[in-house]
Amino acid sequence: MGFPSDFIDRVRDSSDIIEVISQYVSLKKRGANFLGLCPFHNEKTPSFSVSPSKAIYKCFGCGAAGNVFTFIMQREKMLFPESVEFLAKRIGLDVPQTATPEQRTRRDRLYAAANHGHKFFREHFKKNPLALKYLESRSFTAELAEKMEIGYAPDTWDEFTKSLKGGHKEMVTAGLLREKEGRYYDYFRSRLIFPIKDLSGRVCAFGGRYLGTEDEPAKYLNSPETPIYNKGSLLYNIAQSREAVRDAGFIYLVEGYTDLLRLLTCGIDNCAAGLGTALTPQQARLIRRYTEKVALLYDGDDAGRQAAIKGARILMRAGLEAEIISLPEDHDPDSFLLKNGREGLEKIPRLPLLAFQLKLARGDVSDRRVREKLALEMLESALSFHGEMKRSLAIETISEMLSIPVQALTGEFKKLLRQQTLERESDDVTPDILEFAPVEVPERDLLRILLSDPASGEDVYTTMNPDILSNPMLKNIFITMKSLFLKGQLPDVHILLNEFDDPAVKNFIADSALWEMPADRDILLTDAQSKLREFARKRITAALKQQIKEAASKGEDYSEIQKKLKIVINAKEI
Ligand SMILES: [Zn+2]
Repeated sequence: MGFPSDFIDRVRDSSDIIEVISQYVSLKKRGANFLGLCPFHNEKTPSFSVSPSKAIYKCFGCGAAGNVFTFIMQREKMLFPESVEFLAKRIGLDVPQTATPEQRTRRDRLYAAANHGHKFFREHFKKNPLALKYLESRSFTAELAEKMEIGYAPDTWDEFTKSLKGGHKEMVTAGLLREKEGRYYDYFRSRLIFPIKDLSGRVCAFGGRYLGTEDEPAKYLNSPETPIYNKGSLLYNIAQSREAVRDAGFIYLVEGYTDLLRLLTCGIDNCAAGLGTALTPQQARLIRRYTEKVALLYDGDDAGRQAAIKGARILMRAGLEAEIISLPEDHDPDSFLLKNGREGLEKIPRLPLLAFQLKLARGDVSDRRVREKLALEMLESALSFHGEMKRSLAIETISEMLSIPVQALTGEFKKLLRQQTLERESDDVTPDILEFAPVEVPERDLLRILLSDPASGEDVYTTMNPDILSNPMLKNIFITMKSLFLKGQLPDVHILLNEFDDPAVKNFIADSALWEMPADRDILLTDAQSKLREFARKRITAALKQQIKEAASKGEDYSEIQKKLKIVINAKEI
């Protein structure tokens, strides 16, 4: 499908895997390999290993594994041909036009659609004074609207639809049109439009605030999820704030578009906002790419405070340092900044999670029941601390804050921990780490040798019957290797990684390729093969004996089966 294989090889060979992955993960050299925090699961100690010589990566924590293409596919949510194109462009290679238009431009077309929408909304913002008037009524300036490229969706059902010459279906996919009974109409109507940009700064979605006078419509409407937009893994303004975040050493996280606009108005550029959902672990990992420190600036009401506690836990679980700015109850970030400015905000202490929870406990902490309830909530927060030491320090802090003995707290904490472990296990987030039955160990050894040195397997591909393998996954890999070899292709790790979609298979392939080949490789190979034949012989023998038994019990002739059995027992090769 798509590109000629020599082009794919060229892209892979010219892409430095360390350099590519370093754009997403900070890697440190460790021996022959590089090590970093896995971008595919939450961890505090690095178990994500990249081998520059084999040009593959593997996470020993979650089992994610692959090469430079699979990495880009997973990180950038791309299909294989798209990842090839992405990397080719990166190293300045001309992309041959052999991919089908469908494969080549699906995402490009969606970006073009979003871009068309963006232009349309901008034009109407300039045409219609209503939107700017609204912004000015909330003390936002025209300059800010210009800087944030704010748009306006006019108060009609089909203005945008009419602006299109075709490609309506695409616009539905891009989340700009709705379709009902074969008719199309605008997704956004009578709304102030905030363009949402992805990490490369391309507009990929929109958020719209209703400006009309009807009662029904939701105040905020966001683009639906599309192939180029996943609201749980992006944040508003994150790409634009990159440098300011680096300079400040932390990021302000707010919940709404107007909160964010207000921060910008006050000259605070190191900020990002959620996209209408509660903070997700993916968003926490996204932030971790830019900074390790987050100041949560949520509404001062009860809902805002609870959201801040949950948000802080998620950030801490992702290994980030989280602090909460506790606003007065009747304020949101926008109203507070409008009244008190940047100075007022900077005067409010940023509280660590436990201190914030203590501050919130309005009930009298001398009341035993209040204290018990609070202790449990704080212990739940302590679960998001990383490592034994931080957790026991957290428990000590809670003990001091609430005058409850450490021992009692530790007992409760262990209960919570067990509960969490049970929940995690049922979540089943990590792919199975492969376990091999003793009978399969030589099968694994054989495949490992072939995968770490595909050229060494000539004999094996030509002589070994795949049926000799009992593990279905290994058998499947071997069949694929064999057929590639018979077609005259060297079944190397990169070709194989592209052949399989199953993460468990990818994991095994990458793992094997990273395996340090022992010096006695040839002995191991012969040994594995002879063991396999022995196992196969036993399997076949047992099956034939069973057939004989059955035939005998039915009084049937089993001399033919017996002959076969003799041959198997005496045979040198299976
Ligand atoms: Zn991982």
